[in-house]
Amino acid sequence: MADIYGRPIAERIDWLVDLANRHGETFRSPDAWLARQRYLAEHTTAVVVLKCMDGRINLPIATNTPPGILMPFRNLGGIFDLGWPHLGEVLAHHVLRMVQTGRRVMILITYHWSKGDPKRGCAGFAFDTAAAIAHTHEIRRQVEHIFGTRHGTVYPLVCGFETDEDALVIHGTQGALLDMATLTPNDAATLVPRLTELLPDMPVPMRADLLPLLRGNLQHIAKIREQTKRNERVLGVEHHEWMICLGRGFDFLHTPNLALIIGPYSPDLADPLRKAAAIIAGNMQAGRIPDDGFLLLASVPYDEIGVDRARAEMKSRFLANFATEVIQNAFPALARKMTRRTAILDWNSLLLEWLP
Ligand SMILES: [Zn+2]
Repeated sequence: MADIYGRPIAERIDWLVDLANRHGETFRSPDAWLARQRYLAEHTTAVVVLKCMDGRINLPIATNTPPGILMPFRNLGGIFDLGWPHLGEVLAHHVLRMVQTGRRVMILITYHWSKGDPKRGCAGFAFDTAAAIAHTHEIRRQVEHIFGTRHGTVYPLVCGFETDEDALVIHGTQGALLDMATLTPNDAATLVPRLTELLPDMPVPMRADLLPLLRGNLQHIAKIREQTKRNERVLGVEHHEWMICLGRGFDFLHTPNLALIIGPYSPDLADPLRKAAAIIAGNMQAGRIPDDGFLLLASVPYDEIGVDRARAEMKSRFLANFATEVIQNAFPALARKMTRRTAILDWNSLLLEWLP
């Protein structure tokens, strides 16, 4: 796994297919299914996460939450605009579906940084954490514009993620911060009064559903600190990206610096595609990855069989064709090294189906 970057492109793709299969199999196992069912029965607040595509931002792991509970929206830099027609529709559709079954929705609007080295911060914001935070507050205002400012049903919560220790930082209503890196698992009992003070406008049942995420984060940070003591934690972020992923459903890809993931949200998809292609070309030129090829992977998830699945197929093919054209026009030499795969993903089972 550690040296996957250096292998021939065909082997790298085999490795990826295997990774996706293993991720899906684990997700479909009776134990994982039961863990999700129990979690959903105990915590009814639906959690949506807006986050950077950076593979280090793995919130289910960082909060000890069963996979499949937190609904991710990933994009370069965690940059979103709820005015983008497709993003606005997907998010509103998801929120309404949750609310109609009686659930509240917490939207975690995240940014990330590194306390050890600014260069390990967010490349999408050119390592400017203040700009990334300002952007999350702008998204928060957009969420309030759409779902209201009283937060009784939908709550936009700005949340930082420090990647050296995987520590969450919760931004309070009045600008105060709750930095999980300053606490230990022994402080778990103090979280309730802290959250009450920090987020007085958050409905009580929602605060109760935020708690397990924070408790899980305290345990995870303690584990990371143990690994750091034993010199087992690698913080370096050398760029080894050798694939461009366009669409949704790439949660099996949480290996850092492997893939450039572009959500299907922005009305100008060509711009991030060109940026991603330039990064891959740069990686090849610098010898950080072999120059024998790279992968373009389009994936579109569906909720239901029939029409929904058929449309996902068509969307996935469209995205792959669109990206191919953009890359061929901007980087013809690179385009000749492209392997193209299209897939659709059953959201309920995480079964990834490769299209012929
Ligand atoms: Zn980032």
